[in-house]
Amino acid sequence: MKEALLTLSTPMHWLFLTLVLLAVGSFLNVVITRIPAAVFAELEGCDSPEPIRQLFWPPSRCPGCRASIRWHDNLPVLGWLICQGRCRDCHQRIGWRYPTAELLMAAAGVCIAARFGLTAEGLGLVLLSAWLISLALIDLETRLLPDLLTLSGLWLGLLAACLGLYVSPTEAIAGAAAGYCLLALPNALYRLWRGHDGMGGGDFKLMALLGAWLGPQALPAVILLAAGGGLLQAALLTIAGRLQTGQSIAFGPWLAAAGWFTVVWGYEWSLS
Ligand SMILES: [Zn+2]
Repeated sequence: MKEALLTLSTPMHWLFLTLVLLAVGSFLNVVITRIPAAVFAELEGCDSPEPIRQLFWPPSRCPGCRASIRWHDNLPVLGWLICQGRCRDCHQRIGWRYPTAELLMAAAGVCIAARFGLTAEGLGLVLLSAWLISLALIDLETRLLPDLLTLSGLWLGLLAACLGLYVSPTEAIAGAAAGYCLLALPNALYRLWRGHDGMGGGDFKLMALLGAWLGPQALPAVILLAAGGGLLQAALLTIAGRLQTGQSIAFGPWLAAAGWFTVVWGYEWSLS
């Protein structure tokens, strides 16, 4: 284990860390709402503000009545609970995704801090968690995995390897290429057989992102875990009558979850 930048020694330190992570989760909700909206606006040929700029402006508004959200209703998790998941002005439902993103970010960050401390490795994994949570929730809501996130996450993985974190630069580059091909090649065969894609192109890029962080040797484990989870979900939904023939499930959340567990636990094993 590398030297910690700061030590978390008192309950106050952990409380402060949790609050910071909840605030990061709150910002992820802006990312999850606005990046796919910008992608759809561009697809429809509408003028949309530059994606990075619109992450910071304008301030949060209710999606229903466009009223500005008061600062106390914007507090992570608490604001959603106080308003019982509804807008204070028009009473439109504010989805469960908002507190979920905040709680997932806090849980992932605390888990990483407990295992790796506030080290460069730990901070890198918190950054990766933010990317994966955003991608998983965007895919669940919109069935998109925006390039802005998959490709930037891939570059971050390559950069982390150049800084001597997780895997070597050679493994990171090989992992990114292998990750993309591991899904793109079977999909190309599937398209020849059935005449349509079995997976979206975003899934290949998300797998390339994971390959850049993990190296090629961990990718079979990620695919097996993600495919197992996806098949189980599809089977349960089919039994419940909620998935018809020809419908598909979002695979991105399973890839993100499988990748996260493999990176966090796999990296710990490699240290021991
Ligand atoms: Zn409203």
